[in-house]
Amino acid sequence: MKHAEDPASGHPRGRRIAGRAQLDHLNDPYKATTKPGKGTACPTCGAVFDAGRWSWQETAAPVGEAPCPACQRTADAFPAGIVEIGGGFLAGREEELCNIARHCEAAEKPEHPMNRIMEISTQPGRIEITTTDIHLPRRIGEALKRAYDGVLDMHFDEDGYFVRVEWRRED
Ligand SMILES: [Zn+2]
Repeated sequence: MKHAEDPASGHPRGRRIAGRAQLDHLNDPYKATTKPGKGTACPTCGAVFDAGRWSWQETAAPVGEAPCPACQRTADAFPAGIVEIGGGFLAGREEELCNIARHCEAAEKPEHPMNRIMEISTQPGRIEITTTDIHLPRRIGEALKRAYDGVLDMHFDEDGYFVRVEWRRED
């Protein structure tokens, strides 16, 4: 046996954390507890589990059904990310700003089916967008910054698998 198990973590000793994606897998409780069989389909969104990940694909005969992590989070109303948009600049531009967020999701979703907007709530001077993952909020925040400048802040909580992105512009 080449790798000894580290008794503390249960992971092979000496394995390096290579990147963001690997950390996500370790930290997201929804992904860690969901280990469906190959060909399992989500009854809500139709995503199929194959080769260790959920993807969009046509399967003639799904081998079983299990909710995917994104649909589970949505059902639990337990977001992994929040985008808070605020400031005087919003007035009259709510729809335009929400469309940027929706466009980001549309660009992300084909390749990353688990990265989705859960809910968009609009109030005077404030928009809150919740997501099923920690990458989409950043993408939305950066798109807002590119389009309208303003002030972008990102607070990343690795232990909790949670990100809060704030974008503000006053005038
Ligand atoms: Zn699903």
